[in-house]
Amino acid sequence: MSEKNTFVTKEQIEEIAKTYPTPFYLYDEKGIRDNAKKVNEAFAWNHGFREYFAVKATPNPFILKILKEYGCGVDCASIAELKMAAACGFKGDEIMFSSNDTPREDYAYAHKIGAIINLDDITHIDYLESIIGPEFPEVMSCRYNPGGVFKMGNDIMDNPGDAKYGMTHEQMIEAFTRLKEKGVKKFGIHAFLASNTVTNDYYPTLAAQLFELAVELKDKCGVDIAFINLSGGVGVAYKPDQPSNDIGVIGDGVRKKYEEVLVKAGMGDVKICTEMGRFMLAPYGVVVTKVIHEKHIYKEYIGVDACAVNLIRPAMYGAYHHITVLGKEGAPEDHTYDVTGSLCENSDKFAVDRKLPEIEIGDYLVIHDAGAHGYSMGYNYNGKLKCAELLLKEDGSVQMIRRAETLDDYFATFDFCDILKDHEDL
Ligand SMILES: *Cc1c(COP(=O)(O)O)cnc(C)c1O
Repeated sequence: MSEKNTFVTKEQIEEIAKTYPTPFYLYDEKGIRDNAKKVNEAFAWNHGFREYFAVKATPNPFILKILKEYGCGVDCASIAELKMAAACGFKGDEIMFSSNDTPREDYAYAHKIGAIINLDDITHIDYLESIIGPEFPEVMSCRYNPGGVFKMGNDIMDNPGDAKYGMTHEQMIEAFTRLKEKGVKKFGIHAFLASNTVTNDYYPTLAAQLFELAVELKDKCGVDIAFINLSGGVGVAYKPDQPSNDIGVIGDGVRKKYEEVLVKAGMGDVKICTEMGRFMLAPYGVVVTKVIHEKHIYKEYIGVDACAVNLIRPAMYGAYHHITVLGKEGAPEDHTYDVTGSLCENSDKFAVDRKLPEIEIGDYLVIHDAGAHGYSMGYNYNGKLKCAELLLKEDGSVQMIRRAETLDDYFATFDFCDILKDHEDL
């Protein structure tokens, strides 16, 4: 397989590791900034376009603040994410609240800070009223689920009919009618129909469906459609031989559908929103880990100091993450390894039967495309701790943007910490 470029060298990592022990996440500030600029350029044709970064992908205030400089808002799904957004200075309509199975306190807080609430279900109209009272916000959004399968050409991309999210077509009409009666003045339509799509056609295909629905809802319910939210789902090329999405081509594809459907219907003032997570961050974050063991039994194993607690996607979905052995870029990939973490779970493998250059203990491995849905999916199985997050700044310096967890953090939720004091000197 061909190589994927890393944004760091072995020498840089050796230097960074003197201060910050492995494993750690490293984010590339320049990559994040350049990409955010490209996203804005791709949709510059749409007056009022805004990317609402999906906080769950990379919930770190330093990252959110970088994106804020490019006019990005945030898409939140929980009270914790809302509070982080508010703490970073996001206000009102810069915050989209797209949740499901929503707890009362989350809606209450979203309403309090003036976030745009995106209702996942028709029953949430009454539920929301029981929390915020009869005065509804001026701007509200509803999440649409067309059911069936989502097709592009003859390819089935995903299966919305099997997904728990959103409202049916009939429910969308009923919801908009009822919300209008409750005083809502401006409406948004949201849908997320396929995940990690590596094709430039996903957004344009989805947009065409939502634009047609917008025209219908405007006619049938007499409402003002203020925005269409294409949500997330734009993927990245995890494998080196996969073609990358071109956000410029994607933006242009959406523009064509916009002109064909919305402009033609006299709705040329509708704003486009996106809620990308993966596309905004995945390629610009890596896990850096050190080889601490090699094991030769029925297969060849390389044991590293990171584990699925730091990056669960391979263990959870069998997801491919490319691995570079630093300093051995370009060396022949003539060894076959399973690269494993230390969890008592056989799925804790960053790679299975992977062709790599010969690896030695002490080598640093870079696990690519971990910048989204990486750190944030972490957990604490086997009492393993989450690692630090570092930012490689544009000037080449490194800033710690989240410290590693300590055992004190792990034990902090127990009441019987006195017992642990006996072991303090261990
Ligand atoms: C997860 C999620 C996103 C981001 O998805 P990506 O695949 O990371 O782009 C956006 N919106 C909602 C509502 C989500 O649940």
